[in-house]
This record gives sequence, C-alpha cells and structure tokens, in this order.
Amino acid sequence: MSTELEASAQAKVTAETLTINEIFYSIQGESTFAGQPCVFVRLTGCDLRCTYCDTEYAFYEGKRRSLDDIIAEVATHSCRLLEVTGGEPLLQKRVHPLMSRLADDGYTVLIETSGAHDIGPIDPRVHRIMDLKTPSSGECARNRMENLPLLGPRDEVKFVIGSEEDYAWAKAQVLAGVPGWADRVNAILFSPVFGKFTPLELATRVMADALPRVRMQLQMHKLIWEPNQRGV
Ligand code: SF4
Repeated sequence: MSTELEASAQAKVTAETLTINEIFYSIQGESTFAGQPCVFVRLTGCDLRCTYCDTEYAFYEGKRRSLDDIIAEVATHSCRLLEVTGGEPLLQKRVHPLMSRLADDGYTVLIETSGAHDIGPIDPRVHRIMDLKTPSSGECARNRMENLPLLGPRDEVKFVIGSEEDYAWAKAQVLAGVPGWADRVNAILFSPVFGKFTPLELATRVMADALPRVRMQLQMHKLIWEPNQRGV
C-alpha cells in the first residue's frame, strides 16, 4: 500500500473510533429513568475536575474502539435503554454518529454531560441529562449558559448539591429559569453529594421550597453497590 493510501486508511480508522473507558450493564441510578436496567458506554476523557468526581479513572484510561465494535458489544445485552456517559462524552465528536446509530437501532438513548459543551449537535431523539455545576464543584464557571435555551421537553437538568450555598445557588437558577428552560424540561434533579450533604438536609429544603419540576434523587447505584465500585 502506498504511503498516501496508508495515511488515508489510518485517517478513516481514527475517524470511526471512540476511546472507550468501559461498557457495562447496570441499573440507571439517576434521572427519571432511575431504577431501570441500562447499558452504559463510558467514554474516556474530561476537561473538568469537579471536587466530588467519582469517575477519575475515566480521565485517561481507555481503548480506541470502532463504532461497529461498540454497537456489537452493546447488543450482547438484552436491554434497550442505553446511556452514554464519561468523563465528558461530548469531547469526542464521533459520539454523535454513535448515538444516532443506536437511536436508529431502536434504543432509548440517554447522554449525561457536564454542561460545559455545546449540546446543540446532539441527535434530537437523545434524552440529554445536563449538569449545571454548583459552586462547591469548583467548576461553576464552566457552565455553558448558552445551552439553557436549547433545552426541551426530553431533557433533564441536574444539580449536585454539596452545601447550603449550593442549594441556594441551585434554587436561584431554577427561579431565574421560569419562564424559560426550567418549565420546558422534563425534570430538574437535585442530588446530594454523597457524604457531604445528607439526604435529610436536602429533603428538608426541597419540601420547604417545593420548586416547580424539582425532584430530589439519590444515586441509586451507590446504595446498591459499594460507593466507589467500578462498572456499576
Ligand atoms: S464533569 Fe463528571 S467526569 Fe468530569 S470531573 Fe466533573 S464529575 Fe468528573
């Protein structure tokens, strides 16, 4: 093969691959899909460093895999709910054809994203679960506020709350989003940082304020398995 052909073949392989940290079958632990069996595709890499991050192993560890190979592994599980997560899955552009192909195949596709990148190019069939990073995450400045007008009735916005200040900030964001994104989305999720803000503290505030569309959630997978267990 000529050098030119080799280079072109290599470029094609690179274009049709993603760096994958892990693919596993578990219970969806957050969002309105919580409690349902779900296949997870975790992509490698994240450009944020949230203080409470529990997937630091996904920052660098991973293997390049073709979209065909990923889809074939997903299909070994008899489950039609699939979540693309990370790390930050939107850092790899080939995530878009992956999600579109899975939606074409009849999967219900979710994506969990930090909210620091443009959600506009995501296939409209995909349910977007987008964080708004609270102050104690250390990454509040990275929230891409231009995403808010793009949110629609399939989408869910998640606040991970680790302090009183975080709760007050999240409440202010929700109130500022009405009318607007906060009454367009499917749900607004308030989740306590495991070990930092107790479920009782959060429940007390959620009940007192009864903010529109806000629902409290716990990370179900951390209650079922060990808090730092991988592949669940
Ligand atoms: S965005 Fe997610 S993966 Fe990235 S540092 Fe924050 S919690 Fe960890």
